[in-house]
Amino acid sequence: MAMSVFVVGSSNTDMVVKAHKLPAPGETVMGDLFLMNPGGKGANQAVAAARLSEPGSPAIRFVAKVGNDVFGHQAVEQFRQEGIDSTHVLTDPQHPSGVALINVDAKGENCIAVAPGANHQLRPAEVLDALEQAPAGSLLLLQLESPLPTVEAAVRAGRERGLRVVLNPAPAQLLPADLLAQLFMITPNESEAELLTGMRVTDMASAHRAATYLQQAGVANVVITLGSKGAYLLEADATEGQLIAAAPVTALDTTAAGDCFNGALVVALAEASPLPDAVAFACRAAAISVTRMGAQASLPYRKELNELPL
Ligand code: ADP
Repeated sequence: MAMSVFVVGSSNTDMVVKAHKLPAPGETVMGDLFLMNPGGKGANQAVAAARLSEPGSPAIRFVAKVGNDVFGHQAVEQFRQEGIDSTHVLTDPQHPSGVALINVDAKGENCIAVAPGANHQLRPAEVLDALEQAPAGSLLLLQLESPLPTVEAAVRAGRERGLRVVLNPAPAQLLPADLLAQLFMITPNESEAELLTGMRVTDMASAHRAATYLQQAGVANVVITLGSKGAYLLEADATEGQLIAAAPVTALDTTAAGDCFNGALVVALAEASPLPDAVAFACRAAAISVTRMGAQASLPYRKELNELPL
């Protein structure tokens, strides 16, 4: 097997309602637009990576579990159409495919409820099986919508095989210390960084403090995404980091901005880009994604990135 990008994670069907505001507890808000899109952080990141690959880029291989239902069948068919190797997208005979209910307001802010279904049945042995042939130097990208023991086993196996393991710690949750110590890179957003470090992250100075904390916990490279401000990169063994600015765009829907960022980042890393260039590539891709509605529907293609003077 040639060098590859492995994305391990969730596949959901997103049901999106756009309204003038997000509903408060107990409130019903009348929406003005409904979209049904394939989503899930893992699938979004795999699709972003596939669309941002070029001929000759390393293959994108998705490792996930769906239900034996219409959503699961549609998802597998769509991965195939996106050019993703879905050999290790497994079907669970008992649990339904994952779904996510997403509200988006007029400013593009969102709030999301997820029923994970089959995603929570992805077992450590199934992921280890998928990684068995992975050559050293390949990229392994994970999020936290899979069971933590599965994530931990994948990180350990990836590290042992000499893969570059990138963890997007979303949705936010506390992590065991020995997990952090095995990561090539971690990519929290501001609130995830705050949960992991106990430090509020709002700007470059606070991002630097949080990134330093994560490095001291054992992560080699830290990227903290800062929404419309861009992303802060602290490279391994560096004492100073750098802010890589986001392109000035009008955000319509920030759903999947972080997923687009992570998918783009691993493609650039697999193509041997230096870290600052890889982060800049990810910022450009994510800036395009926030100008469009939906999760996977908003993810750009490499051709668009090459053509857009962002
Ligand atoms: P998440 O979507 O996980 O909450 P962020 O909000 O930090 O993560 O967004 C991820 C990345 O998407 C940012 O680092 C940035 O590159 C890009 N991005 C997000 N919002 C905007 C925006 N309003 N304008 C331009 N780029 C954006």
